[in-house]
Amino acid sequence: MCIHCKNRFYQNELYRLQCKEKRIYAFSGFGRSFYLCKSCIDDTKLPKSLARICKVDPTTALKMLKEIVENG
Ligand SMILES: [Zn+2]
Repeated sequence: MCIHCKNRFYQNELYRLQCKEKRIYAFSGFGRSFYLCKSCIDDTKLPKSLARICKVDPTTALKMLKEIVENG
């Protein structure tokens, strides 16, 4: 389930991410993770959701997310 829109998707339609020490990463295989669907990546309210999960400010959250998305 996508943490932002709360809709259910197939795994291949979701980004699996994790937050560790106030950084957002692509899921490494260990620890807690969360999912984000591809259509929410460009949602203007997404940074707020991410900020709440990762306890960072929305601007930083968006910047980290874009880096992950652009690097595949
Ligand atoms: Zn979504």
